[in-house]
Amino acid sequence: MSTDESADGGPLIAVLSGAGVSTDSGIPDYRGPRGLWRRDPEAEKLVTYDHYMSDPEIRRRSWIMRRDNPARQAQPNAAHRALVDLERSGVPLRVITQNVDGLHQLAGLSDREVLELHGNSRMVVCTGCADRTSMTAALDRLAAGEEDPDCAECGGVLKSATVMFGQSLEPEVLGEAVAITKACDVFLAVGTSLQVQPAASLAGLAVEHGARLIIVNGEPTPYDALAERVVRAPISTALPQMLAEFQRHDGAR
Ligand SMILES: [Zn+2]
Repeated sequence: MSTDESADGGPLIAVLSGAGVSTDSGIPDYRGPRGLWRRDPEAEKLVTYDHYMSDPEIRRRSWIMRRDNPARQAQPNAAHRALVDLERSGVPLRVITQNVDGLHQLAGLSDREVLELHGNSRMVVCTGCADRTSMTAALDRLAAGEEDPDCAECGGVLKSATVMFGQSLEPEVLGEAVAITKACDVFLAVGTSLQVQPAASLAGLAVEHGARLIIVNGEPTPYDALAERVVRAPISTALPQMLAEFQRHDGAR
């Protein structure tokens, strides 16, 4: 990552986006403290690494869950588009997301601008050789009759390219998130309850390093007292209004 953009492009805005950003795209909160997976032990097994690796039946059910996941058809909403508008106005922007839906990129941000803490459910990764392929290709194999498609390169177990329960975040990804957080001038936490670590602690780190903290979320968070501003309105209306204030109107870029 580069933090030098702020030198000529204006203040660097870091956005931490959580499940609430995608709610209006029809994607429920799966992995938050009160998310669907946490409330259903059987469903949680499907996304827990040890169960997944040791039990072919869990994998078979996981592939069906992926096939039937409504998030595959989800489209970006006004909140995702507002971030693209901000970026296109010339404001240096990095999005750190807890979401795995890929909607920030589908809305128009580049892969470089989006750091996915928990991976991307549109991709598949081999647990043996780390080969990455598309979810669509794996689901095509499922449709053709394979119940637990394996890696075409090494025969290893394939999984969604997301961080399952029981897996650690990738150290490089977390390191980059920390670097962005320390370098930013404004840290905007949107649609996240700031209760899942280590993502949540980024909000405190940003303040320690002198950033203005702004929180847009439907419910209180443990970091509200540290924030310069807390907005409780629905995200897909509140975020476009708020980001309009940060847009550049001087024709940069
Ligand atoms: Zn492999």
